[in-house]
Amino acid sequence: MEQIPEPVTAGQVLDAHTRARLGARASSTARRLTGQGIVAVALTWVDISGITRTKTVPVERLEHAAKWGVGMSPVFDVFLLDDSIVSGRHIGGPVGDLRLHPDLDRLVPLAALPGWAHAPAFRYAQDGTLHPLDTRALLRRETERLAAGGWTVKTAFEIEWAVSKGDGADFSPACRGPAYGMTRVTELAGYLRDVLTTLKETGVTVVQLHPEYAAGQYEVSVAAEDPVGAADTAVVVKETIRAVSMAHGLAASFSPKVEADSVGNGAHVHLSLWRANGDGRPVNAMAGGDGPCGMTAAAEAFTAGILHRLPALLAVGAPAVASYLRLVPSHWAGAFACWGLENREAALRFVTGADGERPAAANLEIKCLDAAANPYLLLAALLAAGRDGIGAERRLPEPVGVDPAGLPEDERAARDIAPLPASLAESAAAFEADTVLREALGEAVADTVSAVRRGEIALLDGATPEQVTALTRWRH
Ligand code: GLU
Ligand code: MG
Repeated sequence: MEQIPEPVTAGQVLDAHTRARLGARASSTARRLTGQGIVAVALTWVDISGITRTKTVPVERLEHAAKWGVGMSPVFDVFLLDDSIVSGRHIGGPVGDLRLHPDLDRLVPLAALPGWAHAPAFRYAQDGTLHPLDTRALLRRETERLAAGGWTVKTAFEIEWAVSKGDGADFSPACRGPAYGMTRVTELAGYLRDVLTTLKETGVTVVQLHPEYAAGQYEVSVAAEDPVGAADTAVVVKETIRAVSMAHGLAASFSPKVEADSVGNGAHVHLSLWRANGDGRPVNAMAGGDGPCGMTAAAEAFTAGILHRLPALLAVGAPAVASYLRLVPSHWAGAFACWGLENREAALRFVTGADGERPAAANLEIKCLDAAANPYLLLAALLAAGRDGIGAERRLPEPVGVDPAGLPEDERAARDIAPLPASLAESAAAFEADTVLREALGEAVADTVSAVRRGEIALLDGATPEQVTALTRWRH
């Protein structure tokens, strides 16, 4: 089998030899796709405000796209969620071009969009160097940095969405059944079956689907993968659910807060840290150790690194003004900076799995995150925070075994359980002050995150919760 060329990394250049090999590979991929009835390929990337943007090519142009890329303005990196544009220190204005190249390894026919395939894009400048705002490449780099220390990460996004009737701007729940009720499966059985079958045909391994708490809300969990794979999967899962919903005359909202007075949509991240043991077999560091809840010292330090930086991490993981309407106490969103064993009100819920399954199942669930986040940028920031925790040998405080909102304020203070930022302005300020995250993401990305967050804060300044939810509801 033909060797796949390594993607170009920062500092390298996409040379003529690599371009030729990419083109040859794309040409055989295109022949195969044509045989499967595929007409076009959507090359996607996710912008800093969390919106998946695309350029598409007819399948006959895949070879050219793999070799030379498809032009797209760099200005999209400073788009806000309503498609208005700010300018950052590194990006802005109508001038310039960069090239989207399909990642042929992750190209999949989209069962929900017959005739279409999807390929996450690499973004290169015209001179063949990697674009500094390519958040997918950034995640690859963070994964490699952890690997240099001997660590790998398995991760998955758990996606919640709310289903509305029809295509109106308002939200009108498509089912009436109670939270977690079987009635909700019965009401939309054909729709949910199609969600499952199309995800499977697209190559996504679903491990669970259930009705959630809020009106019309469901959740799907998928199998853990390598970080870049998990972020690609999150993009495909959302587009598949969106398409199947529309085919059923429904509309899916992934917004952090669909209605101002309801429970929101989270996109919790599950993470486990692995290391090869003596015989090269990967072992889960989240189990079998003598730290808290069976964590090894490294898993504890990794978790503590994330806990320590949660306020700043929210600027990438809860990136919308609407995110803070969701992130409120006693809504299972994890609004306090603390951790606990199976505590659904702690920002970090540690999951051990059933006795006997722990070595495979133990993982950390980060709950305070939502699907407005760019999944690549978010995972890159989480890995950087965890890696820094390992380096600093951080230790966890005592676990919290109650809803922190029910504790008297002085007890919370004594146990160091702080409320997480209550607004995007607060998390943006924490992010701007966090030199570890800024260094890991690089100056161009960090400054652009600030510019986009500040832009959305200004855009929605003075808006009521109803106005914020209305503007955000159908965007991500
Ligand atoms: N919908 C909740 C959230 O906003 C999460 C419910 C759950 O624990 O799955 O994150
Ligand atoms: Mg849930």
